[in-house]
Amino acid sequence: RIVYVNGNWVPEEEAVVSVFDRGFLMADGVYEVTSVLGGKLLDYPGHAARLERSLGELGMGMPMDADDLLEVHRALVEKNDLVDGMIYLQITRGNPGDRDFAFPPAETPQTVVLFTQSKPGLADAPKAKTGMKIITIDDIRWGRRDIKTVQLLYPSMGKMMAKKAGVDDAWMVEDGFVTEGTSNNAYIVAGGKIITRNLGTDILHGITRAAVLRFAREAQMEVEERPFTVAEAKAADEAFITSASSFVMPVVEIDGAAVGTGAPGSVATRLREIYLEESLKQAI
Ligand code: PMP
Repeated sequence: RIVYVNGNWVPEEEAVVSVFDRGFLMADGVYEVTSVLGGKLLDYPGHAARLERSLGELGMGMPMDADDLLEVHRALVEKNDLVDGMIYLQITRGNPGDRDFAFPPAETPQTVVLFTQSKPGLADAPKAKTGMKIITIDDIRWGRRDIKTVQLLYPSMGKMMAKKAGVDDAWMVEDGFVTEGTSNNAYIVAGGKIITRNLGTDILHGITRAAVLRFAREAQMEVEERPFTVAEAKAADEAFITSASSFVMPVVEIDGAAVGTGAPGSVATRLREIYLEESLKQAI
C-alpha cells in the first residue's frame, strides 16, 4: 500500500509519525472515511465539509482546500489501484516536540495521513441480505459526538462486547434512548415512518444519514427526526443503520429479540438500493 504522510507518498512500512504526536498522546485529532466504489468517491463534498467543521470545532483549520484534498484522495485511489473500499483521512494537531496539555501554537504543522483499505465487493456485503444482529449498551462517550475525533476506544469496546455476545454490532443508549451505533447512525420504521435521532451534540452527523433522509423524502417516505427508545426499537416493524462503509444495512435482531418478521425490511432494502444508485450517479 502507498500511504500519504504530510505531503509525501510512501510505502506503508515507511509511513511514520512522531511519538510526540498529539493524536497519539491526547487523541487530539479528527478523521474522515470516504467510500470508493468502482474507483469513484461517494459523497466526497459531504465528507470534506464535515472534516472542516470537526477541525473548526477543535480550533484547527483545513490542511489544504477541499479541491486539493480531493486530488490527494484521487491520487491515493490511483496509486493503490483501489476499486472498492475506503479512504481514511487522519488529521491531528501535530507534534510540537514536548508533551503539554496546552495546545501548541496555531502555526504548528498538523499531521495529515491518508490511507486506503481495500474491500472488494463492498456494495454486495452478504449482511445486506440477511440483516445484522445487535445488542444495546450504555453510551458512556464524551459530550461532543458531533465532532469526528479519533477517540474510538469506547466504540472499539462496544464492538468487542458485540463480538462476545455473538452479534454484529451494538447500539448505544443514553437515558433510555438510542443515540447511535458504534460506527453508524440508527433508525427504526414504525407507524409507516422512518424514525431516527435528531442531530445535536450527542451523535455524529452522518453523511450517509443526510443523503438517505434526503432520498427518503424525495421518495415520499415520511421521516421523523427524534430520539426513540430501545422498547420502541424492539416493537418496530424494521430497524436499520447507515454509514459510509456499510451504506444502509438492515437490523433484524435487538438484544436477542427479532425485529418485525426477523428478516430485512422493505424500507431498509429499498433505501439501500436508492442510496447506492443515486450516490453512484454523483460519485467523483
Ligand atoms: N456515527 C458514528 C459514531 C460513526 O462512527 C459513523 C461512521 N463514521 C457514523 C455515525 C456514520 O457516519 P457516516 O455516514 O458519515 O459514515
